Amino acid sequence: MIFTFHGGAQEVGRSCIELATETKRILFDAGLKITPNGTEYPKGLMDVANIDAVFISHAHLDHTGALPWLDFQGLKCPIFCTAETKTLARLLLKDAYHIGKIKNAHLSYDVENIQDVLRIMRRVKTKLDLDLDDLGFEFYNAGHIPGSASILLAFDDKGQKKSVLYTGDINTTETHLLKKADTDFDERVDVMITEATYGDRDHPARKKEEKRFRDEVQKHINRGNSILIPVFAVGRAQEVMLILSEMKLGVPIYVDGMARDATLFSLDNPGAIKDAKELRSTYRGCTEVRGRKQREAILKDNRQAIFLTTSGMLTGGPIISYLKKYHDTDRCAIFLTGYQATHTNGRLLMEENHVFLDGHKYNVRCCLNKFDFSAHSGCAELKELIRKVNPKHLIINHGDPKAIEHLALWAHALDYEVHTPKVGDSFEL
Ligand SMILES: [Zn+2]
Repeated sequence: MIFTFHGGAQEVGRSCIELATETKRILFDAGLKITPNGTEYPKGLMDVANIDAVFISHAHLDHTGALPWLDFQGLKCPIFCTAETKTLARLLLKDAYHIGKIKNAHLSYDVENIQDVLRIMRRVKTKLDLDLDDLGFEFYNAGHIPGSASILLAFDDKGQKKSVLYTGDINTTETHLLKKADTDFDERVDVMITEATYGDRDHPARKKEEKRFRDEVQKHINRGNSILIPVFAVGRAQEVMLILSEMKLGVPIYVDGMARDATLFSLDNPGAIKDAKELRSTYRGCTEVRGRKQREAILKDNRQAIFLTTSGMLTGGPIISYLKKYHDTDRCAIFLTGYQATHTNGRLLMEENHVFLDGHKYNVRCCLNKFDFSAHSGCAELKELIRKVNPKHLIINHGDPKAIEHLALWAHALDYEVHTPKVGDSFEL
């Protein structure tokens, strides 16, 4: 079997790994990477029309965003993913296209390519043995966002049965919203391709971090301040909502933009989350913001409130309108709840206390707080997972070089055959 890394190797973004078995050419994920210089697609992918299958782990753009581009390049094969991933991909791909059009970005595909992709996406149930001719596959809940999955393939290689596990983005810790990843794999794993987003860092204990979050929320509410909480739409928005609703704060909680759409999605797809009933009653206690007019009215009315909206890294979406109103007051706090990539407003805010709104630089006077509600396994959990799966070959991807190196050194010392490919690398196992 030959592995080729078209993206997501020694980096986070545009995940796309090709596996050629004796009879098939398949891809794990097809993501894109948004950089200050534009959009980066998977690199060096040839003969797209000859690919036999694409397996998608989850509906984040760094894992699905290149699907319309692949279709434009002539993709003809089925795309396998969970039902929730397909529904979310519809939402995200259309949103990305829309934002790309507004920003006048060169997208390298058209809206028809999104329609084509959605037509060839096949929904797969988790924990079900399936096959594509001589290639067996099974999806397992990955606990990262609703619908996320790890994928296990089984096939013959030189007369022997071999199996490859692709973790996708994985969280082996239960959260308010999601069950932890299912890591009871049915097969012995020969090759494990693991993510390493937090390959060199541990998360603070979840319960402790939630308490710190609640204490800070309460402190600002008691002072009469409003709170802006930029969130990732899928998963994080609902998680934060669930924590806030337990607090009975007595101020309105507004849910705006994709945070609202993704919550409605979760309620329509109750199987993808732990407790849909709880989320439903929580959401009833929040106020939906249904568009620009309502948002403007809310912003005019100076009432103390909590605003939960996208984008999580402050790069676009309704959060920009809220920032315009609140950046210059100490009567408002901003709570960051997730990873902030380089060159985003979120990172600038953390490191230099300013943001760019409509191209202009603004200093931010709000009190800033950062919380770690990560949807990825931390370093200790990743190590535990690798030991449990106990593969012969370990391929480490989806992480900064430092994170990958840390995990690789650890695994090497335990005698695993470790591979840390770069984008463009190809090798046979
Ligand atoms: Zn992800």
